[in-house]
Amino acid sequence: MDTNADFKTNYHTHTFRCHHASGSDEEYVLEAIANGYKVLGFSDHACWEYSSKYVSRIRMRVQEFEEYKRSVLYLKEKYKERITILLGLEAEYYPMYKDWMLEFCVEQQIDYLILGNHFYLSDEYGVYFGHMAPRYISRYFETCIEGLRTGMYAYLAHPELIMRNDYIEWCDSIEEGFRRVCIECARLDIPVEYNVLGMQANRQSKKEMYPHHKFWELAAECGCKAIIGMDAHSPHDLDARLYEEAQAYLDSLGIDIVHTIEPINYEYLMSRELMREN
Ligand SMILES: [Zn+2]
Ligand SMILES: [Zn+2]
Repeated sequence: MDTNADFKTNYHTHTFRCHHASGSDEEYVLEAIANGYKVLGFSDHACWEYSSKYVSRIRMRVQEFEEYKRSVLYLKEKYKERITILLGLEAEYYPMYKDWMLEFCVEQQIDYLILGNHFYLSDEYGVYFGHMAPRYISRYFETCIEGLRTGMYAYLAHPELIMRNDYIEWCDSIEEGFRRVCIECARLDIPVEYNVLGMQANRQSKKEMYPHHKFWELAAECGCKAIIGMDAHSPHDLDARLYEEAQAYLDSLGIDIVHTIEPINYEYLMSRELMREN
């Protein structure tokens, strides 16, 4: 693990394929190099093989993955002397499609997934945890924990996503749910992400959604490790000044910051899964 504070890395990078990010893949790479990153992980919103005819407007389709992969691997080779590039995806935890995703990671030789727990069960059902009915609050915490226990995810992205709901204020019951998530992350040694796109959004809206300072005090108290995720939806989101601000804030809390992710062996996870079934 690299503890060098100057070792800037980012594993949370989107591309135009999700229909809500801009810039070419190469522009992200050049911006990352210019801003001194040593590692750039592409983690665009994952495609899913739905059992229905549902088409998501915020992610690539399965048929589009091949081109995403080709582009990332091309840039990885082209810029290998200047930066390490990884092929990842930001994926939800969908229990019914989990095995499909695991197989996909093996087949496609994906380096890592990060858990972006955006939707409950599948986006086909339309329950977005950032804008949902209060009865789903406990589901959010439960699915974060269940998802992380699969071992498929390198880290938990924007853990405080539910703070986007207008009616949710930090209170004892919310803290209790986040405490369970933090304890599990610490136990599994999975970092929680300090989301820098959210930091920008908090500023613009003058409202504290995520990152939330109460969450980060709790994460520090629970012994969690933090990872800085730029959640870049535009090359400008990789601005090193934003990264450094996030780092200074986390340092002030005394929380450990990790700059590298543990490689995930999806073949091993799949063989373990098969053994369990037999
Ligand atoms: Zn996005
Ligand atoms: Zn993201």
